[in-house]
Amino acid sequence: MAGATARDCSASRLRVRLRGTVQGVGFRPFVHSIAARYGLSGFVRNDSEGVLLEVEGVSCAEFLEALRRETPPLASVDGIDVECIGARGDTGFSILESAGPGDPAGRTRTRIAADAATCAACLDDLFDPASRFHLYPFVTCTHCGPRFTIASSLPFDRMRTSMARFHMCRDCARDYRDSGSRRFHAETVACPACGPRLDHDPAAIVTAIRAGKIVAVKGIGGYHLLCDARSEAAVAELRRRKARDAKPFAVMAANAASVARFAEASDAEAELLKHRSRPIVVMKSRGSLAPSVAPRLNRIGIMLPYAPLHHLLFHAAAGFPSGGATLEAANDFVVVSTSANPGGEPLVFDDSDAKRRLSGVADLIVGHNRAIVARADDSVMAVVDGAPAFLRRARGAAPEPIDLGAEGPSVVAFGAHLKSTVTVTRGREAFISQHIGDLDNAESLRFFEEAYRHLLSILAVTPEFAACDLHPDFFSTRFAEETGLPLLRVQHHAAHVAAIAAEHGVKDKVLGVALDGYGMGDDRGAWGGEMLLVGGARWRRLGHLAPLALAGGDRAAREPWRMGVAALAALGRLDAAPRLFPHAPLAGQLVETLRRGASIRTTSMGRLFDAAAALAGVCLEQRYEGQAAMELEALVRAPRCFPGGFRLSAGVLDFTPILSFIATERPGQRVAAEIFHGALIEGCATWIEAAARANGETRIALGGGCMMNRILSEGLAQALRARGLSPLVARTVPCNDGGVSLGQAAMARAAFAAEATEKESASCV
Ligand SMILES: [Zn+2]
Ligand SMILES: [Zn+2]
Repeated sequence: MAGATARDCSASRLRVRLRGTVQGVGFRPFVHSIAARYGLSGFVRNDSEGVLLEVEGVSCAEFLEALRRETPPLASVDGIDVECIGARGDTGFSILESAGPGDPAGRTRTRIAADAATCAACLDDLFDPASRFHLYPFVTCTHCGPRFTIASSLPFDRMRTSMARFHMCRDCARDYRDSGSRRFHAETVACPACGPRLDHDPAAIVTAIRAGKIVAVKGIGGYHLLCDARSEAAVAELRRRKARDAKPFAVMAANAASVARFAEASDAEAELLKHRSRPIVVMKSRGSLAPSVAPRLNRIGIMLPYAPLHHLLFHAAAGFPSGGATLEAANDFVVVSTSANPGGEPLVFDDSDAKRRLSGVADLIVGHNRAIVARADDSVMAVVDGAPAFLRRARGAAPEPIDLGAEGPSVVAFGAHLKSTVTVTRGREAFISQHIGDLDNAESLRFFEEAYRHLLSILAVTPEFAACDLHPDFFSTRFAEETGLPLLRVQHHAAHVAAIAAEHGVKDKVLGVALDGYGMGDDRGAWGGEMLLVGGARWRRLGHLAPLALAGGDRAAREPWRMGVAALAALGRLDAAPRLFPHAPLAGQLVETLRRGASIRTTSMGRLFDAAAALAGVCLEQRYEGQAAMELEALVRAPRCFPGGFRLSAGVLDFTPILSFIATERPGQRVAAEIFHGALIEGCATWIEAAARANGETRIALGGGCMMNRILSEGLAQALRARGLSPLVARTVPCNDGGVSLGQAAMARAAFAAEATEKESASCV
């Protein structure tokens, strides 16, 4: 009797089932409080489908209205089913123990909330000398604190989290049982008398950082390395020890007033900074922190404190003011906060591992005795084309699902090779793992498997089908093959487009571009600037960028000067290579190779950026993926129109005219960057418009890693709207390879839907 109202019901007892994010978020105490408000008896409990409750009394209808109207802060209700049942005549209202984990038929539909930043009420406790949580680094309640990162399985009960080993003291047990308390049935409740402990004093951490030291601190999703963001010596030393030359670091500052001193936050960015998921928000830098924080870039990633310990650090740095004075006042203490991951490995989260792997990196290692069950990096977001978009999706966002709009078979999709994620679908929802990283070292492969198993465990689901990339040599592909499940191999850029279609709820076909680094085409070619029509599990290539030689294979991606030489080859100007790249000792050799035409070719937009950056003299070698493109973007104040900067013929978009101008006229770095971006926007918009008209499409998915370039993505979105088209921008899932697993999953569900239906009807016979 889904959707029945209590007034339809002659009986005075209701059974109500709620699905969604309803566990570990204070739902049962919330139900208890409204039942008390209306004087109802009955019970509420968690089970494998969510929350089940029964209420009895004269005001059931009012109760139901309140239940539909109000929700606790971290809850999100997807469905309410109401059933009228016979009165039992029980007295009082009770919160019952959870029913056990999911039944084998896979009915488990409940979920675990994402980790949430310390709430305002807990901050009051933290800085209230009269509170037993005063200055306690692990204060939480039902509205805040870790969830995903401490849970091993469902339902979300203390015994299935890393809080299990801490036995509540009398005070905590009283709060836990007190229906008037914010900690009523708060599974994470703990205090200095009974809970986890930090093994160093916050003041000692601040002193070390102020003295220029590097401190590893165990946080919510793993260890972070902290150092003084205003000290060039400290930041440069962190780069040296972490063997990270140039890739930008994120910083943490106390509050909005502190951020304003070194960055320019728009209203939307300031709002995003304060979101309870507390992502790193990329915004315009004032350039007043140490230059090594984000070398040669004009944007900076910033986050605000999200764990009580962070607040305690800023409190100590401010000289221990009384009450919550730390929370709003500008604070000069700004720290680099970067995942503790030596040499590009995933972040460290295990305590013994931390001692072993971080001893050469950190001067001080600060741990605590609450284990991290699932590691998760900080999420990274930006305001793109007027609204928030994920660039990396992890802590605070995983495992919030994407609604696929319809039921379907459970599939697991293993993503690509870089910025890896795993997606598992259950019912009508897709759950994307936290960001795992590039699958190029043993530790990352371990994390990949760990994230996959954890996802299956917290979803209590057994996938029937799998999906992976077309590339046969990716670790993720081989892992998918080893599952033994029926497998769909999905072209990389089709997956990019399908991911955007999935998050925007597009059911039929969609036209999309994937402007990207690398993905294998169905001709085994090196694709990366693709125009595709994607619908269900089918896709068609309508166009691509004019190919350039991938000069030196994989090395081309690390050494943009090689793409500069490849561009000269395309211009018939190889003779200019020695003059343009005098410091590249192998340039002569490469010229010979290209003269013979002996090189594979690529349609990659990422490599086109490299070529432009090299010809403009902006970046000849890159230390991290996307560096040349990011440095080129950083030079742009506004993209400049450059008539005739591209050619379009039979779906092939060719930017050799603009490259030719940059190589020949040498207009200076800034002008080169601005006209290159201008030509890209105009060229891509023209290209897309032609395909849209030819195919009768108006919605255009804008995917691929190059869409992280805001000048390009915002300029292109605007240009498409001016042409009467509707751009779809990746928001909930990154536009880069972090979103590929979602696209693979959506296409695999379409591919296997018929098979799944057959299986189901066969088992019914
Ligand atoms: Zn709280
Ligand atoms: Zn306690």
